[in-house]
Amino acid sequence: PSIDGVKVAVRVRPFSQREKDACSRCVISMNSSSTSIYDPKNPGHMKTFTFDLAYWSHSGFLKDKDGMLVSSGSNSRYAGQREVFHDLGQGVLDNAWQGYNATLLAYGQTGSGKSYSMIGYGANRGIIPVVCEELFKPIQNQKNKQYQVTFSMLEIYNEQVIDLLSETKKPGGLKVREDQQQGFYVDGLKLVPCDSYTQIERLMEQGTKIRTTASTSMNATSSRSHMVITIQFKQIFLDEDITKQSIINLVDLAGSERQKSSGSEGDRLREGTRVNLSLTTLGNVISALAEVAMGKKVLHIPYRDSVLTKLLQSALGGNSRTIMIAAVSPADICYEETLSTLRYAERTKKIKNKAVINASPME
Ligand code: ADP
Ligand code: MG
Repeated sequence: PSIDGVKVAVRVRPFSQREKDACSRCVISMNSSSTSIYDPKNPGHMKTFTFDLAYWSHSGFLKDKDGMLVSSGSNSRYAGQREVFHDLGQGVLDNAWQGYNATLLAYGQTGSGKSYSMIGYGANRGIIPVVCEELFKPIQNQKNKQYQVTFSMLEIYNEQVIDLLSETKKPGGLKVREDQQQGFYVDGLKLVPCDSYTQIERLMEQGTKIRTTASTSMNATSSRSHMVITIQFKQIFLDEDITKQSIINLVDLAGSERQKSSGSEGDRLREGTRVNLSLTTLGNVISALAEVAMGKKVLHIPYRDSVLTKLLQSALGGNSRTIMIAAVSPADICYEETLSTLRYAERTKKIKNKAVINASPME
């Protein structure tokens, strides 16, 4: 197996309207791969983190005629969607073609830019749609190979799994089961075979619509749920009688902010603690794996404690090449949350995965 650390990227977005209205100051600065954060209450105080990649998407942009955000000039540093795809999305594709499992996770507080990076808005398409589109491009013109692509899209809300491609909602959600061979999987989840990007585009649209409806009917916002898109990619080499398989997980995590109770107490609290279970367990798994990587003896990695960590088991310390995007706000008013996101990302960076090429027959 190839042993590699989780690759971590941090991306800082422009000020939001709310932050502008509050006359916020920017507390983030970036210098190649290092990211510094200033304590607004104690301006001399600065903490610096080093990640694999740091994206300055805070200032220096222009809108082109399609509404796409691009660098405003040769001296400006705005990192747009193209650049982020080029570094992270292309890596996911390269791994998939080689037969490695690949996982991309977006972490950060609500409003920090997770969905912008992963899915995108309007002309500013995120990593997921571009990965899906690029996946089919080389497929078109190959003669001695066959391909199978399946697409699934689910949401974890309150420890319940909701199939975002299914119109009929199962009360209580779908069950997560365990299998000797494939590990944890969602029983009854729709896996849709796809042979074009247009098809995936339509499925994603449909899934996003169901996600919104589901959260409205549960009186919640999507910021409290995790969305997991899984693409199974199989290449069949006809001449050599070999197949290569890759599972690609693309995950837009729930907002990482500590839950505050608001609205109807009971509901909110119950929801808050339950949603936290998947995210808290993810944090515990990451901490435990970081300790393992530092040579400490850890008896137990709590994968089984939540739905999310069951489904991401191989992505975390297992057979997968994994990337995390830590999305952060630039504003002083978000200082505490941003600092906690950067610390989380720092722990994640320590995790070591053991990826193997999934080929059969094995030689
Ligand atoms: P999250 O999914 O983390 O809750 P969003 O991705 O929805 O946050 O981003 C919140 C807002 O900030 C959106 O209006 C989005 O368009 C904007 N935004 C986020 N990241 C960027 C970026 N890199 N460049 C420009 N605008 C961004
Ligand atoms: Mg979002």
